[in-house]
Amino acid sequence: MSGMKIKKGDRVKVIAGKDKGKEGEVIRAIPQRERVVVEKVNMVKKAQHPTQANPQGGIVSMEAPLHVSNVMLVCPSCKQATRVGFRFKEDGTKVRVCKKCGKDID
Ligand SMILES: [Zn+2]
Repeated sequence: MSGMKIKKGDRVKVIAGKDKGKEGEVIRAIPQRERVVVEKVNMVKKAQHPTQANPQGGIVSMEAPLHVSNVMLVCPSCKQATRVGFRFKEDGTKVRVCKKCGKDID
């Protein structure tokens, strides 16, 4: 496993690129490519083939993956965009830690 520190369901802030400053929830993590898909971030237009539900087809907007280095985790405790550290609990479980407030991140 690569050590990607951002997971599905995390709230992140975009720190580079055209959507810099936006925040959103990670809706998909792609550790193999070190990329994440973030709700309403890095939207691209795609042509959609006609389906039964949408016989016209058309253009849809959807999120494209962006590199994980372009986002920072927003800590659920202190609500700040932060770097992520790790610590080991007594039972050996590795947990993520906010570098700003020191709290564990689930
Ligand atoms: Zn924090």
